[in-house]
Amino acid sequence: MRQDILRSIPSVHELLESPEISKLLAIYPRQLVVDAIRAVLEDVRQTLTHKKDLLQQGNNRDTSPSCPPCEGEETGEVKEFVEAQTIALSPQRLSILVRQFLRQKYCGIGHAINATGIILHTGLGRAPLADEAARQIQNVLQSFCTLEIERLTGRRGVRYHHVEQLICMITGAEAALVVNNNAAAVLLVLDTLARGKEVVISRSQLVEIGGSFRMPDVMSKGGAILVEVGTTNKTYLTDYSNAITERTGLILKVHQSNFKIVGFTEMVDLKDLVLLGRERSIPVVYDLGSGALIDPERFGLPREPTVQESIEDGADIVTFSTDKLLGGPQGGIIAGKKKWIDLLKRNPLTRALRVGKLTIAALEATLKLYLDEGLAEKKIPVLAMMFASVETIEERCKKLISKITPEAKTFMDISTVEGISEMGGGSLPGEGIPTKLISLHSEKINAGELAAQLRGNTPPIFARIEQDRVLLDMRTVYDNEVDMIAAALENIGSS
Ligand SMILES: *Cc1c(COP(=O)(O)O)cnc(C)c1O
Repeated sequence: MRQDILRSIPSVHELLESPEISKLLAIYPRQLVVDAIRAVLEDVRQTLTHKKDLLQQGNNRDTSPSCPPCEGEETGEVKEFVEAQTIALSPQRLSILVRQFLRQKYCGIGHAINATGIILHTGLGRAPLADEAARQIQNVLQSFCTLEIERLTGRRGVRYHHVEQLICMITGAEAALVVNNNAAAVLLVLDTLARGKEVVISRSQLVEIGGSFRMPDVMSKGGAILVEVGTTNKTYLTDYSNAITERTGLILKVHQSNFKIVGFTEMVDLKDLVLLGRERSIPVVYDLGSGALIDPERFGLPREPTVQESIEDGADIVTFSTDKLLGGPQGGIIAGKKKWIDLLKRNPLTRALRVGKLTIAALEATLKLYLDEGLAEKKIPVLAMMFASVETIEERCKKLISKITPEAKTFMDISTVEGISEMGGGSLPGEGIPTKLISLHSEKINAGELAAQLRGNTPPIFARIEQDRVLLDMRTVYDNEVDMIAAALENIGSS
């Protein structure tokens, strides 16, 4: 009996030839499909052996989760058991298992729907690009491009030339350089200007940014000696001036991107640090982090220091991310006085931190939008999401609810509730943006399972869970994703 069942398991070869599985070969490399078939068949073989044993012991219900569901399985009857196995072993059923296996094991990078309301979600790729930037990547991707060549003379050019011009035009800086991310920017500045020298920094600014970027550690990697001044909550100008010696390489100010100190506090303005630096001939570097080019305060949100005002206040160098509030591809910009930027450009480390043509293409296109702020606010997704009105978001909620059929609504309660979106990515900490959320609640499955099913959708949908409710923040959902969410809910409600 057991032998019969085991013998009826199709071979890898048979499955590869079946129409269901051969469809998968158009999506996944053959090697991965073969791998997945082997794994699934092995699992089925084990389950069958296991079930058979249980059956013979008279214990015929197996509830272990690793058993593939065998529709129509009835207790006791060996005959029905065998029939159920035949269904379980059908190419259709097996192809579903193979597909699930491939999806779980080799999902890799792909489109995801961000319904968390966290605009700069590092797990979900931080800033999504503007159409203009995505198109420009496409343009340079499938052909040769003018990355490092002078069109007029045909001579070798400089890859950063055009993007540098744009940065200077927008920020008012004399010169600029682009590297892989802001962490690299800070490292390069320290390595160039402060290797073996002292760096004066306030105790309130020794931040840790997510993903193991800790200021004191970056300092030692850059070969700099950390000189902490002031206290956690209060640092005065005299704390800085007393700490300056002939060994001082630079004064560093770091934006408290992802935390806030409130209450009895004191910080030194950039302007005052700049005056001190000039007096003692020491460069002042400002690690801005989020790199806002438009102050969110203009839209009633909390203030963020902008790159332009930091340059205007006289910072010798500012560093910032290009995929935070700027809304471009991953990258870091170092902008400031030409004298210092020229030094940085000559550091061999710059070559190791240089960005590829895709980054340059996307960054140039994103920066071009900033030449007209109105355009930037509309076309750069991070800004558009940040500044979207509650009415716009509510409309999206209504549209979603209108697409859900009564059947799905009997499976789960769906309503619109008020809530808070977050900027994320170490920007505007603790300062939520009022939003509208879709709240899902089901008597049949708990919120954790519901959220897991949403993540299992194609594309995966990421949501928040609060008090046994799944919350979908429509601020970070694109209009064309509303239908996809509706279809996913419909699927879950009818399964
Ligand atoms: C985010 C941030 C960084 C790190 O920037 P990445 O682009 O993520 O490398 C460094 N410093 C500050 C102050 C930040 O906010």
